[in-house]
Amino acid sequence: MKLNPFDIYNLLPKKNCKKCGLPSCMAFAIKLIKREVGLEDCPEINSAMYIRNKMKLKEILREYYKSLETKLVIDEKRCNGCGICMISCPVNASSNLNVAGGKGFEKDDENLIYKIENGVVKVINIKKCRRFEEDIESRPCSVCVDNCPTKAITFL
Ligand code: SF4
Ligand code: SF4
Ligand code: SF4
Repeated sequence: MKLNPFDIYNLLPKKNCKKCGLPSCMAFAIKLIKREVGLEDCPEINSAMYIRNKMKLKEILREYYKSLETKLVIDEKRCNGCGICMISCPVNASSNLNVAGGKGFEKDDENLIYKIENGVVKVINIKKCRRFEEDIESRPCSVCVDNCPTKAITFL
C-alpha cells in the first residue's frame, strides 16, 4: 500500500507551529509515513478542534501500518555480544527478571525477543516486539536500535 504525504498533510492542522519539534506539518507527515513519530507528538491534532481529522488519520494510518512488513535485521559483523539490546528491550525486561537484572537467563524463554549465543545476539521471538502492536498514536518502539553501541540493529 502506498501513501502520499499530501494525503496525510491535508488532514494535519497545517499550522507549521513546530511544537512537534519538526520544521513543518509536511515534515511531520513524512515522518508519520516512516513511523518515526506518532500522532501523540503533534499537540495540535490532539485538540478537540481536529477530532474528525484525527479519526480519519488513524483510519488511514492503521491500514497503512498493517500493510508494512516489520523486518528486524541484525548485522552480526557489527554485533559484539554486549547484551545491551537484550536487557534494554522492555519486553525482555518485563518477561524475565534475570534479564531485567542484567544476569541473562539460563534457558530459552519463548517470551524473550533477544538472547546472546556464542557472543552474538539472536532473535528468538520477533512477534513479541512492540512494533507489531497496532498503536497508531505512539511512535513505534526503537529502544534496542537506539541503545546498540555498534548500530548493529535495523528495522526495515
Ligand atoms: S505540531 Fe502539528 S501542527 Fe505544529 S508543525 Fe507539528 S504537525 Fe504541524
Ligand atoms: S546491543 Fe548491539 S552490539 Fe550489543 S548485543 Fe545487541 S546488537 Fe549486539
Ligand atoms: S523495538 Fe522495542 S520491543 Fe522491539 S525488540 Fe527492540 S526494544 Fe524490544
